[in-house]
Amino acid sequence: MQITKHSVAAIHYTLTDNNGNVLDSSTGRDPLHYIHGIGNLIPGMEDGLEGRTKGDKFNIKVSPEKGYGVKSDDLLQQVPRLAFGDQKIELGMQFQTNQGSVVTVTKVGLDSITVDANHPLAGVELNFDVEVLEIRIATEEELTHGHVHGPGGHHH
Ligand code: ZN
Repeated sequence: MQITKHSVAAIHYTLTDNNGNVLDSSTGRDPLHYIHGIGNLIPGMEDGLEGRTKGDKFNIKVSPEKGYGVKSDDLLQQVPRLAFGDQKIELGMQFQTNQGSVVTVTKVGLDSITVDANHPLAGVELNFDVEVLEIRIATEEELTHGHVHGPGGHHH
């Protein structure tokens, strides 16, 4: 059985940047379960997993365009310091916006604070070491919900 549209696949993965720094890994955790072909994963991962079979071990190189996007200066925003009240603001602090996205402080000025709403991995080339553990066909209910049920998925 191959990974194709509407397969549920269980994979182990380790994500590194081009300097070999480990950014994320499922090692020591439950494998990642996802439904293929419906946007559960970034496009570059789905491309690399397409057609693979159980037991396959391989590397997927993902460009920013097929990963978390390129960095956009449009997502840098200056916010008046007053908006933060009495809070002490430091470089690298992260805040959740009212829209639910996360922004990072990239510049602290006297009157204004610059925050960056780019994804932390925007502009980064990603290297995934992947192992395919299991493949099955998604149920109707899983496809309706858009996520995996049972082991490694939602319980509800
Ligand atoms: Zn569900």
